[in-house]
Amino acid sequence: MQIKIFKFGGASVKDADGYKNVGNILTKYQEDKIVIVVSAMGKTTNALEDVVKSHYAQDGNTEHLLDQIKKSHLALIQQLFPLSQSVLDEINDTFVEIEWVTEEKPHEDYDYTYDQIVSIGELLSSKILAHYLQHIHIKNQWLDIRDIIITDNTFRDARLNWETTQQNVRNKISPLFEKSNFIVTQGFIGSTSENITTTLGREGSDYTAAILSYCLDAQSMHIWKDVPGVLTGDPGIFDEVIKMPRISYNEAIEMTYYGAKVIHPKTIKPLQNKQIPLYVRPFKDPNSEGTIISDEKEMTYPPVIVIEHDQTLLHISTNDFSFVAEHHLSMIFALLAKYRLKVNMMRNTAISFSVCINYIPERIKKFAEELGTEFKMIQDNDLELVTIRHYNEDILKDMQKNKLILFEEKLQDTVQMVVRNLPKMKRKEV
Ligand code: ADP
Ligand code: ASP
Ligand code: MG
Repeated sequence: MQIKIFKFGGASVKDADGYKNVGNILTKYQEDKIVIVVSAMGKTTNALEDVVKSHYAQDGNTEHLLDQIKKSHLALIQQLFPLSQSVLDEINDTFVEIEWVTEEKPHEDYDYTYDQIVSIGELLSSKILAHYLQHIHIKNQWLDIRDIIITDNTFRDARLNWETTQQNVRNKISPLFEKSNFIVTQGFIGSTSENITTTLGREGSDYTAAILSYCLDAQSMHIWKDVPGVLTGDPGIFDEVIKMPRISYNEAIEMTYYGAKVIHPKTIKPLQNKQIPLYVRPFKDPNSEGTIISDEKEMTYPPVIVIEHDQTLLHISTNDFSFVAEHHLSMIFALLAKYRLKVNMMRNTAISFSVCINYIPERIKKFAEELGTEFKMIQDNDLELVTIRHYNEDILKDMQKNKLILFEEKLQDTVQMVVRNLPKMKRKEV
């Protein structure tokens, strides 16, 4: 059976026009068998994160924040199709599930609570999409992906149990295609074997689509974005970016590993293993192929820039001025792993070890506490990590303008710099 996987992110379903556009795109594929993976509507995940924060702060605002989310979803439905009692019940039931979480005292495990609350974004958007498609006579089945994607209980960053997930896909998804060509389901969320909801990490819907592509031996995977394809830099930051019509799996892995936000970093590997092509396509121009990511060899690429904001450098040295030796490093790495602080760049000198990580204050604080008194730690915040693949001297000079460079490393055709942006010089008034 030839199956395609389509993934629609938050930007493609940010309002009623977005849902209508998804409907239009799907009308062109009615002969194909497609699993449609959908993210939460627009910025709903951020709004739900605020609900979690408010619940933990016990600031009395939680109910209001939830109500806003409910209202925006109901308003959306009203624009899309006549709101029936059964749809209203379904939406209300989804909210009730978390209302009994927020009405209790905060559970001791923040990440667990986060997953129970934040996961409703995808449940809501996928239910709305499934109903809307029915309304415009596109037959489909709604699937709760938590019956398929089984993970461990690392809440907010759950790890997949590939074996059980693969079995579930085979036993539960394939038969659904006997009833209709389209299956609508959620990205980002999963479940433990004890039926507790988990999430795969922010922006994880791309990864869900890749997991399903792998397990179904999909013919192709398509992610529909608000950009023409994979560009040489983030168009939100740079003006002069161009689309790359084709890139290799390896190039995509490198770009996303360094932080290119266009695709979730875990997405590419499962596709590469099964040689499934990934199309990054513009939802505003559905006839365009966008960028095709496949097994390209010997490609030449233009310079590609990736910027990671909110970086922190930790400079760690021993308090007794001894060298930072192997046993120290192994302890430091164990703690970085324990607090899930991903190493973006690092350097070891005789008396200090420096590491560049994402700024996650709660985890850095715990890391520093556990590092203990044997070490001294200096923390440098508000930095950027700039990575340039396939760089040339001109682009390097350009990227170094108005920046203080704290760290620089050149590896074959990639250069990485940890920088602080210098305040722009004010022109003297005369
Ligand atoms: P969605 O969540 O809707 O799937 P995202 O917002 O996660 O989409 O990803 C698309 C965004 O990624 C674009 O709007 C763009 O700002 C950003 N982006 C960052 N780097 C790149 C790049 N190299 N090419 C294209 N888009 C990029
Ligand atoms: N809705 C989730 C997020 O915003 C997952 C996703 O969109 O990929 O992170
Ligand atoms: Mg996204």
